[in-house]
Amino acid sequence: MSDFNAAEASRCLLCKKPKCALQGCPVHTPVPECMALYRQGRIDEAAEMLFQNNPLSAITSLVCDWKQFCFGHCVLNVKQAPIHWYKVEQEISGEYLSRVILGRRDDSLLGKRIAIVGAGPAGIAAAVWLYQKSASVVLFDANPRMGGVLRYGIPAFRLDKALVDEYERILSVVEFRGGVEVESVAPLAAEYDAVIVCAGAEKPASLHIPGDSAAIQALPFLKDPSSYSLGRKVIVIGGGNVAMDACRTAQRLGAETWVYYRKTIENMPANPLEVEEAKADGVQFSVFQAPVEVRPGGVVFCDCENVVPEGGGRVVTRIIPGTEHFVECDTLITAISETPDFMLLSGAECGADGWPVVADNGLVSGFHGNVYLAGDFRLGPKTVVEAVASAKLVVDSL
Ligand SMILES: Cc1cc2nc3c(=O)[nH]c(=O)nc-3n(C[C@H](O)[C@H](O)[C@H](O)COP(=O)(O)OP(=O)(O)OC[C@H]3O[C@@H](n4cnc5c(N)ncnc54)[C@H](O)[C@@H]3O)c2cc1C
Repeated sequence: MSDFNAAEASRCLLCKKPKCALQGCPVHTPVPECMALYRQGRIDEAAEMLFQNNPLSAITSLVCDWKQFCFGHCVLNVKQAPIHWYKVEQEISGEYLSRVILGRRDDSLLGKRIAIVGAGPAGIAAAVWLYQKSASVVLFDANPRMGGVLRYGIPAFRLDKALVDEYERILSVVEFRGGVEVESVAPLAAEYDAVIVCAGAEKPASLHIPGDSAAIQALPFLKDPSSYSLGRKVIVIGGGNVAMDACRTAQRLGAETWVYYRKTIENMPANPLEVEEAKADGVQFSVFQAPVEVRPGGVVFCDCENVVPEGGGRVVTRIIPGTEHFVECDTLITAISETPDFMLLSGAECGADGWPVVADNGLVSGFHGNVYLAGDFRLGPKTVVEAVASAKLVVDSL
């Protein structure tokens, strides 16, 4: 128990209605209960409680945007001294993970054969809980190894891959079919009692400007950065966490790296801590810049400005006509957004927005009434903890 964490635990008010857990945390981590156990030195019991609630606790405690979740909802915020619960959680869950051995806890799903498509956080969490309920689980992934974005997206300087390896060890009790790209869920729905699709959101959005096919997409770049020859100067377009990981990775590979964004730094959807880390790594930022054309050797940008629409309303960012200017770069990386690839679900009923019609528990209309969605494939690009929470909704309904 570190001195800092012991002090934080003793400061925790052990709230009866903890906002950190009930409002702040998508997976409702039982913070006061675990804090109480931690204070008493019953750390394995706390760790077990955390793992059962969220098998990815060792990872979410590291990668969550805690200001948005637990820390940001602590009642001690009013005195500007919220509890660093995530640090206590890192200590409890990080050490415990290497000792987890999965067992059957009940036989509520005994005899059920369940296929999971995608071995990222949602698929991993679902596989853990389903195995504990005695289901027979087959986990498919297009990649050879488990982890999804945890292994193939978030860079190693932010997340120690040894933690991801632990899930391969823990889930060695289930059948993993790595390197298998599922083309359609329909045959699986016919073969298995239930199919849970946790295939993430990997389809990149395009810039939709002339020449944009010359750009590198951030996700393939992050999957294998050293296979790219970046040249001297890199421009990354985007302002989310994926853009931050891409720019920091390029910078660490030795390129002079710039992030271009059409609004302000404060408007960036990225975790502000990631933006600060990127700056500390030497990444440079240019704001109010919208790309309008990709040309050999660089990108044409226009300046942007914030304007209040005539008649009032929300401020909008618009391009200032006549401000085109060419910015040289050797490599352009785009990280503007990703969506799920619903080809996998062909045959499912979709709404007017093109997204499948999904019940609260993730059940998709169509097929045999046995196909469920979880994680980014259901929610669009979100976070690890939200992926786990959505997998829990599915498993609890089976
Ligand atoms: C670069 C990056 C950085 C991020 N940083 C953070 C962060 O710091 N904190 C945070 O909370 N969240 C972060 N996120 C978001 C978070 O990683 C995702 O929300 C989370 O991984 C979603 O989990 P998932 O299981 O739904 O999908 P994924 O992790 O995307 O896993 C989906 C899996 O499905 C597999 N798959 C896809 N299609 C098929 C198919 N047809 N057949 C078989 N397998 C298939 C894929 O190979 C993949 O392994 C980041 C995302 C990215 C891309």
